[in-house]
Amino acid sequence: MGRRKQRRSRQQRGEKAREAQSHLTAILMSPLDHPRDVVESAAVHLSKVSQRHRLSLPSNVRSRVCRKCWGSNSFTSQFRVRVKAGQRIHTCLRCGTIRRYGAGPKAHRIARVTGGVNE
Ligand SMILES: [Zn+2]
Repeated sequence: MGRRKQRRSRQQRGEKAREAQSHLTAILMSPLDHPRDVVESAAVHLSKVSQRHRLSLPSNVRSRVCRKCWGSNSFTSQFRVRVKAGQRIHTCLRCGTIRRYGAGPKAHRIARVTGGVNE
C-alpha cells in the first residue's frame, strides 16, 4: 500500500468524499440497475470512504449494508428481515450479524394506550 502525500485542502477532501458517497449510495439504492459485483463493491467502497473521512452513513443506506462484513444487503438472498416483539430484526446471512431496529414491545404499548385502542 503506497501512500503518497497529497496536498489538498481539507474542504476539497471532504467534498470529494461526499461526492463519492452519494455516487455509491445511488448504486446501492438501485441494485437492479447495476451488475451484482458492482453493487457488492460499492458497499465495501462506501464503508472505506466513510471510515477514512469519518462521515456517517446516509440513513437510507444504513440498513442496506452489513456493518460487520460490509456486504451489500440489497439482495434479499443475503439478508433476512423479521419483525419480532415490535422490532425489525435484520440478519446478515453471510456473517450472521443481527441488527435490531425499533424500541421493542413497550414503545408500542404506550402508543396504543394513548391512542385509545388498547383497553
Ligand atoms: Zn454481514
